[in-house]
Amino acid sequence: MELQAPLLPTLRRALLATIHGYYLEALAWLPKDKLRGSHQYLYSLLHAGHCYGPLDPVSNIIVNTLWHAQAYPLTLEKKIEIEAISTRALLRIALRSLYGLISFLCTRHPALTPGEAMQRLQLARAYLQNADDRDHDGGVEEAYAAAANAARHPKPLEQAHFLGPSNSMLKGFSDLLEHNKPSNVRPLFPGYFQALANCKPPQEIKNTNVLGPWAYNDAMRMIGNFWNQHNSAVGMAKSAIEMYNMKSQVQPSYEVHVVCGVNESVGGHANPTKPFDGTCCCSHINFLATRTAAAGTSPELFFAECSNIGSKEVLLCCPVAMPLPGTEQVRCLYCESRGRTIVHPTKESFLGRDKEFEKMLCGERQRANNEMISDSYYITLGLDNLEEDRIYGDYSCDSGLQEDVPLPEIN
Ligand SMILES: [Zn+2]
Repeated sequence: MELQAPLLPTLRRALLATIHGYYLEALAWLPKDKLRGSHQYLYSLLHAGHCYGPLDPVSNIIVNTLWHAQAYPLTLEKKIEIEAISTRALLRIALRSLYGLISFLCTRHPALTPGEAMQRLQLARAYLQNADDRDHDGGVEEAYAAAANAARHPKPLEQAHFLGPSNSMLKGFSDLLEHNKPSNVRPLFPGYFQALANCKPPQEIKNTNVLGPWAYNDAMRMIGNFWNQHNSAVGMAKSAIEMYNMKSQVQPSYEVHVVCGVNESVGGHANPTKPFDGTCCCSHINFLATRTAAAGTSPELFFAECSNIGSKEVLLCCPVAMPLPGTEQVRCLYCESRGRTIVHPTKESFLGRDKEFEKMLCGERQRANNEMISDSYYITLGLDNLEEDRIYGDYSCDSGLQEDVPLPEIN
């Protein structure tokens, strides 16, 4: 039975929340030094680390990321050290993964509509192997090619071949995962990809752009915006974990692994006397943090609420559980309406929780729940030109160049 149209945004929202949780788990598995430094795992995760494949969704994200980073390393002239993953870029790869999952199922099962594929995925918690009930490998590589195209993978045919049944390495991982805990198998992944790198030389990717003055200035403006937001988010996350370390007196103390979600528009305008100053009162932040001196511990997820003004006081910092696949998340008026996927605490009070929701449902805020869900849906449609995309490029200016040259997409 085809799904009624109004239910689709709700189903899509639930699936995106589940997939987002898989990305948080995968980020916790990837080593901090390689996420940030010249290995640029973050770049590969955001552009090619989709959650579909023959393994469980978290393992798929990890192997897709490692494979892309090893086979197509991005070589930049400039050095970048990224400590905060862009929230919208993370939402974009989750959304592209969802498109890939739907396309895979509709290719393997031609009678299936996209709505029915989404229902199957919801029941299977976005775990492709459980949603695809065909027990033979015929047409699997074609289905992965359809998935990779729908998901805008930069190397769709190569990814389809990598994920297809002829890859004995993934078959081996799949067998291991069937009989062992993922926490015992996933640490083996990097070693295999390193061995692969020794057999097959990587195909380095450069992203060098010569632009006219207008386009160059625009690119520089976007890059400047990215770093302003990045540095502000990292500063707040570091202050938040320092405060948490002091308050809870944990030994050894926590250190930020990576910032993985920011909404800087929480609460009303910080200064109502300045209507053109768009600064809001607070930010909501998710970050992963590790007790670094404790061997063998994996990063844990934290939530922080910080003031955007003055000394950027930390109002709340607490650990939150990794979201369980298929479960409803604690809702936040401000994060949902901005389309930001941020995990909020279940017990602690924060701006945008109970009172704000009550006001909205009583009509004081003149926004209905369905309206908010559809707003967050429309935000997911405008994710093609992000500041994040400009970070991974080298730029130079040629004043004689025609100005209407479009800025190239690199993903
Ligand atoms: Zn929030």
